[in-house]
Amino acid sequence: MSVCAEVRRPPHTVAGEGGIEQLIGNTPLIRLRRVSRHLSPAVEIYIKAEWFNPGGSVKDRPAWNMIRTAEEQGLLTSDKVIIDATSGNTGIAYAMIGAARGYRVQLCLPANANAERKRMLRAFGAELILTDPREQTDGAIRKVQELVAADPDRYFYPDQYNNPANWQAHYYGTGIEIWQQTEGRVTHFVAGMGTTGTLMGTGRRLKEYNPHVRLIAVQPDSPFHGLEGLKHLETAIVPGIYDPTLPDEIAEISTESAHAMARLLAREEGLFVGISAAAAVCAAMKVAESISSGVVVAIAPDGGSRYITDPLWEEEG
Ligand code: PMP
Repeated sequence: MSVCAEVRRPPHTVAGEGGIEQLIGNTPLIRLRRVSRHLSPAVEIYIKAEWFNPGGSVKDRPAWNMIRTAEEQGLLTSDKVIIDATSGNTGIAYAMIGAARGYRVQLCLPANANAERKRMLRAFGAELILTDPREQTDGAIRKVQELVAADPDRYFYPDQYNNPANWQAHYYGTGIEIWQQTEGRVTHFVAGMGTTGTLMGTGRRLKEYNPHVRLIAVQPDSPFHGLEGLKHLETAIVPGIYDPTLPDEIAEISTESAHAMARLLAREEGLFVGISAAAAVCAAMKVAESISSGVVVAIAPDGGSRYITDPLWEEEG
């Protein structure tokens, strides 16, 4: 039976206490069938379709885990404001979960973050503090640190770059799901690095299951890039949760090749993915071309509809 048919979804239709949070995780694994035609028949390539999360991205997982953990530890109480720096997806996740659980949410993000995201954040009732776009995500992080330092008791600052509950969301979720969905056949795991939570948590879990699983980290090929959500680690603040000894390889991908792949996946596979997802598929494809057999899984952090006004989709003809 095909692995795709094996996807386990939670029992969404059962009535009970659970709100939107119960729909986080258990995302489908989708096989790339047409763009992989030139590969050895013994090579399978899949994407983990994280846009199936209710907030539309992989970041629902860590946001929910950081909030849940803080509630359990008594760090997040109803009088606190959730604050963080985010390139968008984590913010949407905080805003969605915050609304569902009755928290006020404040977010610092670079002023050039795309308009749809800002609208969606405001739709969920989040307050936005826009920072200098030239400083990218790092500028937004510095702004949060300033605000929290000035009034520490007012805020709950999940600090996704340094919070172990970020990578643990993937260790207890994404990694186990991929292992089960591939029936333990996964040989390569490919993920872009933003906070590095996806790579660290999923990677640790997969290496525990099978130390031969190779972990391929994806990063932009230059400091100035259009791969939203990804960091060029040599020139950015390195996240505290990043362990440089974990990845087996680092693949550098250009914005142009990610754009080309995003178009190809839409047209050839019917998969409308985000730009960092397309970058991960570029890296996965390079790996797949270099092996004669294996099961390559790439993370698709979000879907193409998050980037609908990006010049990428403004096309000739
Ligand atoms: N792609 C997108 C679109 C993202 O929003 C993020 C999160 N910043 C990533 C990739 C990277 O994921 P992580 O933070 O787990 O490294």
